[in-house]
Parts: sequence; C-alpha cells; structure tokens
Amino acid sequence: MHLLLLSAFISSFLKINEGSASDWCYQSQDPCGSRCKGPENWKDSVNGHVCAGKSQSPINIVTKRTLFDDLLTPLKFEGYQNAFNSRMVNNGHSVKVDVATSATISGGNLSSVYKAVQFHLHWGKDGGPGSEHTVDGEQYPMELHIVHMKQHYASLGDALKDPTGVAVLGFFYEESPSANKNYEPFIKALSDVKVTGTNTTIHIQSLSSLLPSPKNLTSYFRYKGSLTTPGCAESVVWTVFEHPILLSADQLKAFSEVKFKDGKPMVDTFRLVTLSLCAPDQLKAFSARAHARCTAARERRGPGQRRAPGRLRLGSPRTVVAQLDEEEREGGGEGRGEGGAAIS
Ligand SMILES: [Zn+2]
Repeated sequence: MHLLLLSAFISSFLKINEGSASDWCYQSQDPCGSRCKGPENWKDSVNGHVCAGKSQSPINIVTKRTLFDDLLTPLKFEGYQNAFNSRMVNNGHSVKVDVATSATISGGNLSSVYKAVQFHLHWGKDGGPGSEHTVDGEQYPMELHIVHMKQHYASLGDALKDPTGVAVLGFFYEESPSANKNYEPFIKALSDVKVTGTNTTIHIQSLSSLLPSPKNLTSYFRYKGSLTTPGCAESVVWTVFEHPILLSADQLKAFSEVKFKDGKPMVDTFRLVTLSLCAPDQLKAFSARAHARCTAARERRGPGQRRAPGRLRLGSPRTVVAQLDEEEREGGGEGRGEGGAAIS
C-alpha cells in the first residue's frame, strides 16, 4: 500500500516537473551541461511544440520592408499614471512585476481593450546586447515587455487560447550618459531578488514613468507573433516601440547581478530567431526585389554599428507594419541603424 502510494506520489511529482516551465533555459545557461532544454530544444519542452511554429517571436524588423499603416494611430493608455505597490519576483528566467492596478491599452487598431497583467525584461551581459527584437540587425541592450490580455479574460492561460488574446508592448533600452531617476527604485529592488525564487515589495510610481515620454510613443511596429518563452503560444499582437528608454551604463549593468537558479549570473536572457529572408528555402516565397532589399540591408550596415557578432538576421518572412513619423517616411528610414512568456 505504501509502495503504491509512493509510486503514485512519484509519478505525480514527475508529471508536475514535466509540466513546469523550469525545464527550459536560455543558451547562456549551458543547456548541454545542465540538462535543461535550451532554445534549440524548446519545441520538446512541455506544450513547447508551438516553439517550432511559423509565427514565432522575436523577429528582426527590417525597416525597409515595413509598411506604413494609417490605422496604426497612437495607442490610448489608461491607468498608466496610477501608482501601485507590487512584488518583484526573480522567477529564474527574468525579473517580473505584476501590475497591481487597472491599466489598459486600446486604439492603434487593436481589436479590443487589453489590460496590463505583468511586465518583465530581457537583457544581455553587463549592458551588452540583450534585446529580443532587433531593428535592421541591431540589438539593443535590453527590452521591456508589458504583457496585456483582453479585458474579459480571467487569466493569461485563457487569453493564450485566443489568437489575439494577448497584446505585448515592447520597449528597447539604450545607454545614456546620465542615470534615469525614474528607474532608481526598480534598480535598487534588483539587489533584493538576486536569488531565484525570491521576491520583494516594490513601489511603482506609475507605468508611464518607466516608458519614453508620450511624444515618443507614437512610432511603433506592429506584427502578429508569439510569446518568446515556452510554450511560445502564437497569440500575441506585438507593438514594438521605436524610441528607446534611456538608462545609464551602471543601471543596465545592475541587471547582470541577478542570478539564475544555479547561482550563475542571469545574463543573455533573450531568444534568437534564426528565420532569415536570405535562407534558400525562404527565398522561393519572395521576389527578386525582396532579395535585393535583403542584400541592401546587409550592405547598409557599416563597420562600427552596434550589434552582437553572429546575430545578423536579415528579414522576416512575415510582414511588419509600422507607423513612422513624417520625417522618417520622407527619409525612407535611411540611417536608422546608426543611432543607435510563457511569459518570463
Ligand atoms: Zn518577454
């Protein structure tokens, strides 16, 4: 009887373990040595088969291939000015903060009102390249994801069953000579969640205070994609903002103090997407003109432009539509490269 119970216990324990999100890891966690499933094998993680799907995120946004869309008007942010207290958690993959206030986005050709659920970040090593999305092959040091779901859903799990159930706002970060004062409490709280599984109380002055100024929220890229962590559900309407958030080098470096479960520095917490417009099997689907653009994109990047070695990704087989401001439309986007979930 005891043995039977023990065996039932072990089998349910194994099931829980198989079902947990902790069986996957980033490339920086040495998947070969640590037996966790690295990005190459996310498709083999529980419910991870979608990770090998056709609408996976992140993508490289090739600005020359974006289309201006009049329907992509500025988003309407509500409740983004609210202050709230919440918990910052080190969940072993990122630091995550639940949004403990009513904050919603609508407009901008979104099909519904979406409410903010949580936000988390993806970063590199000591302020090096670390964003998930790239723009013309350029990787920024960090990326913020504010995860929203359609207002009527009770849980993210429910929302993820809807092909447009989740809307994520993505913001890049860029290094600046001066510290961003609005981020001080956030950066300070990182030292309280260095260990995986720990959490701390954090006061968020407002979601808006963490974002670029309102005038810099009108240019964004929109596409339909997925969560960038297993199970990679293809239920995400992505809005990736053009203008980055500015942090000092020290502020960016502070994120590398956080630790993975095994005590090693939590660094390079981003997913690479290897889909390339230049890959022979993808070329078939595109005209010679697309190929020419691909080549041009390659040539536009001169020496000295910031990007991670080996991260050159040209094009995406999916269309990205963008709202660009007048100046950029007239300028054709030239020189852009120079300036610069589940859910974790
Ligand atoms: Zn994310």
